[in-house]
Amino acid sequence: MVMFRRVEELEAGVEPPLTELLGEVGGVLRAGGVAGAFEVRGDEVVGRRELVHALRVLGVAKVPVAESSSEVRAGFYRLEELGFYEDVKGDAVKVYESALELLVKGWPTPLVKLRTLSSAGRSVWAKLECFNPFSNSVKDRIGWAMVEEARRGGRLGKLLYEATSTNTGIALAAMAAIMGLKVRLYVPMTIQKVSDIYLRAYGAEVVRVPKPLTVEAVEDVEREAGADGATHLNQFENDANFKVHLRYTAKELDYQLRVAGIRPRLIVGGLGTSGHLSAITYYFKNRYGVSVKVVGVQPREGEVIPGIRRIESGMRWVHWVEVDEVVDVGLNEAVEEALRITRSEGIFIGLSSGAVAAALRKLGEVGGDVVMVFPDSGYKYFEQIGRYLSEKGGE
Ligand code: PLP
Repeated sequence: MVMFRRVEELEAGVEPPLTELLGEVGGVLRAGGVAGAFEVRGDEVVGRRELVHALRVLGVAKVPVAESSSEVRAGFYRLEELGFYEDVKGDAVKVYESALELLVKGWPTPLVKLRTLSSAGRSVWAKLECFNPFSNSVKDRIGWAMVEEARRGGRLGKLLYEATSTNTGIALAAMAAIMGLKVRLYVPMTIQKVSDIYLRAYGAEVVRVPKPLTVEAVEDVEREAGADGATHLNQFENDANFKVHLRYTAKELDYQLRVAGIRPRLIVGGLGTSGHLSAITYYFKNRYGVSVKVVGVQPREGEVIPGIRRIESGMRWVHWVEVDEVVDVGLNEAVEEALRITRSEGIFIGLSSGAVAAALRKLGEVGGDVVMVFPDSGYKYFEQIGRYLSEKGGE
């Protein structure tokens, strides 16, 4: 007899690296489910263990199991039947037992239609990552995921070192506060000064490094962490980054779009580590095919837009997926667009969000539904915004 069991109850051995599971993960998304049940003996899965791990990566809640191999071949089980969206449905009442629950059960972050950018032929939506509670940014997701995965793997020490352009630093400092750890953050000189105060308010030690880009500090951080016995989670290479965006950010967005009856033609997002946009690209292209176009946004050569950088500066996940186009945006364009949206929609968005919106403007009129991912709000960038306003006379 085929029954459903919670996937976390099943024993399938140690999870293989993501690169080995990716084929199965994509296959499940493309098929929209799994063919046949799993054979189990007690709690042990017999065969197809990689597929069980792939389902765990995707956050499938339950799987069909049978106790004899003759019973497992029949049937096709759609993701919806397997509780695929269970972890992204959110909680309407919003009462939480802890700050960690506030983060994880607080998802999904809102998806909001921007009326001033929408017209008869298209609607434009923004996913507002500033609704994450700690760093008020998309980076809370990876701070949590990297720390949790290291903890589960027995690799989490009492001291964390990380290179950050602010948001990951705040997210990790919050996790450190919750878990009683200490954190040292390496921040490039090009990042706004106020970040030191936010990070120190959280109890983090801040080291300013004479490099323009965060990623350029990674080797030094790795060496110093090794010398001091600290844990270097390394957001640039840690697959927990891609995985948390696949299981939550991308799946959440998919769930929200389904409930709202929207089939996006275009998704636009920024590239920093490339974690969130690569996972969204991977998810949507596998689940819905190439009809969904994805556009990435990078700063124009020689310009600094905090949080995003140019692809050629080296990124891990963006090379696993097919982003259709990459658009260059200058800092002033990003600030201008951020202010335009703030002044027309009433939502004070950040500079990388402004860059995403500026990229959409550059693409011209796109028919159909469009989704932009806005990584954070404008409150951390008053130095850049203030400079822009005083140069332009505040108009
Ligand atoms: N925008 C902001 C404000 C960020 O802090 C970051 C990441 O640091 C990004 C965009 C880019 O996100 P990702 O690292 O997922 O590519």
